[in-house]
Parts: sequence; C-alpha cells; structure tokens
Amino acid sequence: MSEKNLSQVIREQMKSQGKRFWAGDNISDYVDEEQKEALIGEATVAFEQVLDALLIDRETDPNSHGTAKRLAKMYYNEIMAGRYDPAPDATAFPNDSADRYEGMLVVRSELRSMCSHHHQPVSGVAYIGIIAAEKLIGLSKYTRIAQWCARRGTLQEELANDIAREIAKATGAKDLGVYIQAVHGCCENRGIMAHSSLTQTTVLKGAFKDDAGTKKEFFDNIKLQQEFAPR
Ligand SMILES: [Zn+2]
Repeated sequence: MSEKNLSQVIREQMKSQGKRFWAGDNISDYVDEEQKEALIGEATVAFEQVLDALLIDRETDPNSHGTAKRLAKMYYNEIMAGRYDPAPDATAFPNDSADRYEGMLVVRSELRSMCSHHHQPVSGVAYIGIIAAEKLIGLSKYTRIAQWCARRGTLQEELANDIAREIAKATGAKDLGVYIQAVHGCCENRGIMAHSSLTQTTVLKGAFKDDAGTKKEFFDNIKLQQEFAPR
C-alpha cells in the first residue's frame, strides 16, 4: 500500500476532530508553514494531472510549462490565503476614558475574493460600520480582517456574515453593519456573461438593525463614501 500523502493525513485529522473544512473555512490550526510548502508540492502534481486531462502540452508549450506550480502557489499564498493564514493581529486600544469616541465609524475596504462554486474572481468593496465600543482597533485592521475573510472560496452572503462576525470579535462592538457590493467573474466570464451585474449584501446587527436612525446614518455614510470614491 502506498503511503498517505500529507493532505490526506490532515483531512483525516480534521474529520476525526469534527473540524469543518469547507472552502470558506479557516484551517490555520491544522496547517503550519512547513506543511504548506509540502502541500504546494502536492497540489502542483495534482494540477499537472488537470492540465494533462485538459490535453494541454506542459512539455513543449513554454507558457504552460510552470503553470501547475504557479496555480498551486497562487491558491495557497494568494487567492485562498485566508484559509491557511491565522487571523491578522488586530491590537485593540482602550476607548473607555471620559472623552471616548462614541460615534459611528465607517471603513471602506477593497475586497478580492473567489466564488466557491466556480473559482472565479469576485471583486468589490465592503463598507464596515460600527458604533465604537470599549476598544478600538487601527483603521487598517478593518481591511486586513475583511481581506482575510475574503481570501477564500466564498459566497457573497457568507462573506458578509464572516466579516461581521470577525469585526465583532476584534472590536467587541455589538452594533455593526457590513455592506458589500461586488462583481462576480462567474457572471461575467461564463454563464449569463453579464458584464454589468452587481451584487449587494447587507448584514446588520444591534442598533444598525433595530434603530432606524442608526441604519440611515450608516447608509448615508456609504453614499458619501461612494460620492468621494466611486467605483
Ligand atoms: Zn460562481
């Protein structure tokens, strides 16, 4: 019997511990840096087989020669990096003094993701709004967290939920909103080939959901941001 490959060992470990490993799940607790290199090697061999099955000449076509390796590295280090990398470090600063910031904060984050159905690119922006709680995180951390959630195989609906959950975890905020608008490669490059299709998803928690004034302020802020930096 042939020896088990590393991905098989890790899959069995996750299964035995009841760990879900869907395309949108982070599995950084199960893959370290050294293993990642070995897994890239394993994925390279698998992509070579895919190219062979597609009848693409990997030997004499110079453009296809290193493609399997490039694909394997791209999946692990770029388009799906958010599955294998641990959560970005988001040091929280106290916001509990007499002159604490009590207002709404809305951050616009550029997103690049990939749909888990077709592995086609998804690109867009997330607007993340919170009412500041007892702690604050650096402004760039909102985008780092959003990108970490996005760099996986996702559905846009799922992505909005993931970002809301991770921002709540990092900031302690109970009142928050996440609004995403994105274009999907799977609608533009295949299927209906609709180049102008735009998908919007919204997740609202706490006052953003229950208080009409807060909700309006959030969407007014988004409109202002869109006027300032349209896309
Ligand atoms: Zn798709």
